[in-house]
Amino acid sequence: MEGSACSHIRGADLCRVYKKAGYHGLFITDHFYYGNTAVPRTLPWDEWVHRFCLGYHNAREAGRKLGLDVFFGWESSYYGIDFLIYGLDETWLLAHPQVVDWSVEEQFYEIDRAGGLVVQAHPFREAPYLPRVQLYPDYVHAIEGINTGNAQAVFNRRAVAFARQHQLPITGGSDTHDKHLSGGGMLFFSPIRGGQDFVRAMRERRKALILKAETL
Ligand SMILES: [Zn+2]
Repeated sequence: MEGSACSHIRGADLCRVYKKAGYHGLFITDHFYYGNTAVPRTLPWDEWVHRFCLGYHNAREAGRKLGLDVFFGWESSYYGIDFLIYGLDETWLLAHPQVVDWSVEEQFYEIDRAGGLVVQAHPFREAPYLPRVQLYPDYVHAIEGINTGNAQAVFNRRAVAFARQHQLPITGGSDTHDKHLSGGGMLFFSPIRGGQDFVRAMRERRKALILKAETL
């Protein structure tokens, strides 16, 4: 709720839900600047970033007390085409205000150069708020193959097939917006220690199980 206008749960409460469900950790990826952000775009960049990261900081603090690892990311949006960015932090954002106006191609070049990871989010989702399916296999490191917030299993099947076709690794995500668990995520065979560790795991194509709900 701190970072995303469509969220119905605060960062700290979300941690309690995930800890109880047995997760070891999670990424907070709020809707970024041109997505459904809860932070006014009229704010100066420093203040905007600070407010955008608040949900993450609150979650991290709650996670520290609970024994749940909390990592930072964001979901950039290009007229409804969404990308999950991992492995970079608040300090990097503060130093790169130009991030908001990068094209999809520039985003990949710059995030890659900075050591981050670009993942196209739910690429085959069809929904009234999404204008079209548009794919960028050359400008992502991975594809969100399973998104347990998708309404239909076929959207995930298409994403997995697309990733295989382009030999891109897949991630699994929950699309969490409230206290209801959708069962998504990833199970690695060794612990993920931080955002950079996740980037390495994906770039090295470390094996992981992708969690999914029964119906998806
Ligand atoms: Zn949302």
